[in-house]
Amino acid sequence: MSFAKKLASGELTAATIKECQLNWSGHGPGERFLCRLCGHKFQLGDLWRFVYANGGGPSRHGNFLACAKCDGPDILERAAKQEAEYERLRFLFGG
Ligand SMILES: [Zn+2]
Repeated sequence: MSFAKKLASGELTAATIKECQLNWSGHGPGERFLCRLCGHKFQLGDLWRFVYANGGGPSRHGNFLACAKCDGPDILERAAKQEAEYERLRFLFGG
């Protein structure tokens, strides 16, 4: 399966060496190969998936990656809640 197809499938797969070293989101090799919800940095063999969140979903911050532990039918809602909380804290404390 091609990498693009794999992303589009949205299925959990085990992280490969190549994926661990990709420049995710334009950052350094592997730096942003993280679960959006818990911040887990994926290591070789960890299960992860690409979550489509663009196009009017509850998440305003676009597509993201998720680990098997955080995955679930309500993952978009949980990601949106987390974003709202982050925005609130940023408003309160600046930065
Ligand atoms: Zn996670």
